[in-house]
Amino acid sequence: NGTLHEVDPDVAAAVDSELRRQQSTLEMIASENFAPVASMEAQGSVLTNKYAEGYPGRRYYGGCEYVDVVERLARDRIKELFGAEAANVQPHSGAQANAAAMFALLNPGDTIMGLDLAHGGHLTHGMKINFSGKLYNVVAYQVDPETSRVDMDQVEKLAREHRPKMIVAGWSAYPRQLDFAAFRRIADEVGALLMVDMAHFAGLVAAGLHPSPVPYADVATTTTHKTLGGPRGGVILSRKEYAKKINSAVFPGQQGGPLEHVIAAKAVSFKVAASDEFKDRQQRTLSGAKILAERLLRPDAVEAGVSVLSGGTDVHLVLVDLRNSELDGQQAEDRLHEIGITVNRNAVPDDPRPPMVTSGLRVGTPALATRGFQDEDFREVADIIAEALLPDFDEAKSKALSARVATLVEKYPLYPGLGQ
Ligand code: PLP
Repeated sequence: NGTLHEVDPDVAAAVDSELRRQQSTLEMIASENFAPVASMEAQGSVLTNKYAEGYPGRRYYGGCEYVDVVERLARDRIKELFGAEAANVQPHSGAQANAAAMFALLNPGDTIMGLDLAHGGHLTHGMKINFSGKLYNVVAYQVDPETSRVDMDQVEKLAREHRPKMIVAGWSAYPRQLDFAAFRRIADEVGALLMVDMAHFAGLVAAGLHPSPVPYADVATTTTHKTLGGPRGGVILSRKEYAKKINSAVFPGQQGGPLEHVIAAKAVSFKVAASDEFKDRQQRTLSGAKILAERLLRPDAVEAGVSVLSGGTDVHLVLVDLRNSELDGQQAEDRLHEIGITVNRNAVPDDPRPPMVTSGLRVGTPALATRGFQDEDFREVADIIAEALLPDFDEAKSKALSARVATLVEKYPLYPGLGQ
């Protein structure tokens, strides 16, 4: 019954170090965020001990009266948040949510259409060695080489030609909004189901700052840990008519016992996501990304070959295009790491450099907005990043930029009550 530090000092030390890393650097990985302390408390609770195969009111185990309360709260809250007819909050992750949704609505060998991974799509939207690419016949659509935006004419042409059973709309690295009405029209035209994976932008949708795919989609999946700001996990929203099939695809189709401690943490974060504070945070997230895109396009950066894919952003991330820069994605990621900013390198469409190197950076604002960043802080961090990407970066500059990062870190303490 000892504490973590008493029972396992090795794990405790790694956890403490990770807390210090999160507190002392600027987190700009677009898919990351900081879960509320209350959410983490729920996740670290005794609910981790409970088996609860089945659904509230229909479990295969006794003693589920309290986890039923929690799962119903999570389900009701997310339905309300997105105006969805049905919700399944049990998927352990975004990938599992997508696997279950497809398992429910498709048969192996069916044709699906999704955004090419190399153009910003996700592994689960049809990548060759992912379950989606192995089980289904994949037709990938791409972004237009001129505008870097999804080409709806190409989507329509491919859909007419291949008559997919499902069209997947959604992305992991794309700086613009998708036209859900157009996707719906095309899906209807060819008799396809429309699945929207809103994992990245769900927080913006919840705050009313991004068009909602829910009225258009037969099924909408999301992760709970990106812009939505909760614990790691997945959710499937759907029309009522698909709910039974989806529930049985999650359990027993894909998963065994649900993680009720994580579902409790999801419930807490959905409550937070309905608050005015959350809306303000999403507003700052969006505004920060716009500031970032504008300031990265300063003349000396452009001169050095730094560009921004599609010329800007409508969402919480910017894709920095380094195709014309001597600096590659790996070097840019390393430079920012050196000064205390965490991002990930990311291939740009038709990237000339190898996938482990890339010619792009994906830079997101959700975690900094959660930390409290305002426009003025995003202006400062944008300038720091732009300066770090210039050719005259050297040790002196590195030191000076690190000091500016440290000032921002100290201005907004993260999890001040933890790790004392
Ligand atoms: N869908 C999209 C669009 C994503 O970007 C991601 C994660 O990056 C996922 C699904 C998968 O989520 P997870 O990592 O929880 O499996």
